[in-house]
Amino acid sequence: MIEVTFLGTVSGIPSKERSHQAIVIEYFSEKKDTLLFDCGENTQLQLMKSSISFMDIDRIFISHWHADHFAGLIPLIQTMNLEKRRKELKIFGPEAERFVSDIVDLGYFGLRFPVKAINVPFEGSEITKIEEKDDWEVLSIPVLHTVPTVAYCFKEKDRWNIDLSKLKKLGLQRGYWLKKLKKFGKAEYKGKQIRIETVANIKPGLRVVISGDTKPCENMVKISKGSDLLIHDGTFLEEDEGKAHTDVKQAGKIAKKAKVKQLILTHISRRYTDPKEIEKEARKYFDNTKIAYDFMKVSLKK
Ligand SMILES: [Zn+2]
Repeated sequence: MIEVTFLGTVSGIPSKERSHQAIVIEYFSEKKDTLLFDCGENTQLQLMKSSISFMDIDRIFISHWHADHFAGLIPLIQTMNLEKRRKELKIFGPEAERFVSDIVDLGYFGLRFPVKAINVPFEGSEITKIEEKDDWEVLSIPVLHTVPTVAYCFKEKDRWNIDLSKLKKLGLQRGYWLKKLKKFGKAEYKGKQIRIETVANIKPGLRVVISGDTKPCENMVKISKGSDLLIHDGTFLEEDEGKAHTDVKQAGKIAKKAKVKQLILTHISRRYTDPKEIEKEARKYFDNTKIAYDFMKVSLKK
């Protein structure tokens, strides 16, 4: 199961109702993994209010180095330090090595745990796998903003489900060999090699895509294709004169083109005080659209 929590949902200037961008993805399997996407100002306080433990976060993915997406890193790392964190924290982003080293060098830090910066490609149109565990991986793709920026995709790995009727048809009994089969894709059963595809069906993993700040672009369609949830920059109702962001109509068109199941617009300009107004407009272009608000939670299951 995946749980997405929006900690901050506003664009450049925060408001009393909305904090700067930060989104948590919690992945529940045998062990829980907590991943943070962007870390705007106020993120640690929002985490405390949300009941998500900031000490559980081992990976932070920064979309780009504008303060509304990273300024929360300094106090968050400092608090982890004060709380005697010892385990490594990984921070991913375009040019991460440069910016993370600036951040940990700022002030009298005395950092007592390893912070590892991982650069993410920010040019071209390739999807890159940047992190992986047994059950999931994180992919990235460059997007179109005023500075190097990337979108991320959290992808649960596809799984094989054993089809009992297929087993029966082939006269095979259940047993420990099925565990091996799932792990290696083939296994021996009473001296015979069995391949996974002959007795199992593939179950595609859940996918959540987070755009970061971006103008509408084909790379967003590419990484979002068929995803279960697309979280997209929806800064404005009207077309962006600054040409740095996506308006709700353009975001809806991307969701439709990529055939996603659900669209949530975030990074909402403070000028819109009535989210219903944006939602109504957005749904003209993509029906299953919601407007994010701080502490909104979305659960995804298959
Ligand atoms: Zn922003």
